[in-house]
Amino acid sequence: MSDQVKRVVVITGGSRGIGRSICLSFAGPGTHIYFNYFSPTDPDAEMAAAAETGKSVAEMGGTAKSMSVNVASESEVSSFFKKIIDETGRIDVLVNNAGITKDGLLVRMNESDWDSVININLKGAFTCTKIAAKKMMQQRFGRIINMASIVGVTGNPGQANYVASKAGIIGLTKTAAKELASRGITVNAVAPGFVETDMTAMLPKKAQDAMLAQIPMGRAGKPEDIAAVVAFLASEGAAYITGQVIHVSGGMYI
Ligand code: NAP
Repeated sequence: MSDQVKRVVVITGGSRGIGRSICLSFAGPGTHIYFNYFSPTDPDAEMAAAAETGKSVAEMGGTAKSMSVNVASESEVSSFFKKIIDETGRIDVLVNNAGITKDGLLVRMNESDWDSVININLKGAFTCTKIAAKKMMQQRFGRIINMASIVGVTGNPGQANYVASKAGIIGLTKTAAKELASRGITVNAVAPGFVETDMTAMLPKKAQDAMLAQIPMGRAGKPEDIAAVVAFLASEGAAYITGQVIHVSGGMYI
């Protein structure tokens, strides 16, 4: 890539939480950021959150464009990437961050809660990876970073759908890494532990305290703790790392 060409970074679920921090970690004059979000329940609030992320990126000298795109919809994802490629001609970094939870005990979990978590967390990452990888293969360069979770390795009661999606993300990461390595594309996963975002704020206080008690470093993670590792995996310094799962959990998983 010549110095004149800006790096194009695509982040799914960039309006809030960890995704928002990831957008900020890439913000700077040399980077075009594209991120998506999706909220069927409160679109106005999400548009405001997305606008806030875009404003913060601009204040740091970068450019960010956002779109409402459901990562579970192949046609919406295809249009999103088409727009990016039409505008910039390239995709350098893809961060598959968008994710949801719909918790419940296995024997009570209904089909729709299983399907929506798998379709957003796992199928969404597959679709984005498939489309971005085609462009990255032509470029002979790319960095793909997938958001897993420590529970994808350990299991977690009450999260069969979520854990299956995150274990699937780890398998997808390792397979894509092997398939794409010869084209200059690295594929890695980051596995956060317990991070303070809207996703964990919805847990009852008792459950949050129980999580905190399992963290040797004695504090919850911040979105910035995760974003810093994503930025490293996208950097030149990480050029020889692929197929890895980096746990960022304050020692919650060792
Ligand atoms: P969050 O605060 O709830 O944010 C989730 C983001 O994903 C939002 O930007 C949301 O957009 C977006 N999103 C949800 N459904 C989407 C869809 N169908 N299409 C496109 N975007 C969608 O969650 P978070 O805690 O930052 O989590 C980010 C990632 O880290 C997830 O993959 C999660 O599983 C993983 N993770 C989190 C923790 C933790 O402790 N927080 C731990 C391990 C792993 P809207 O704003 O439009 O809803």
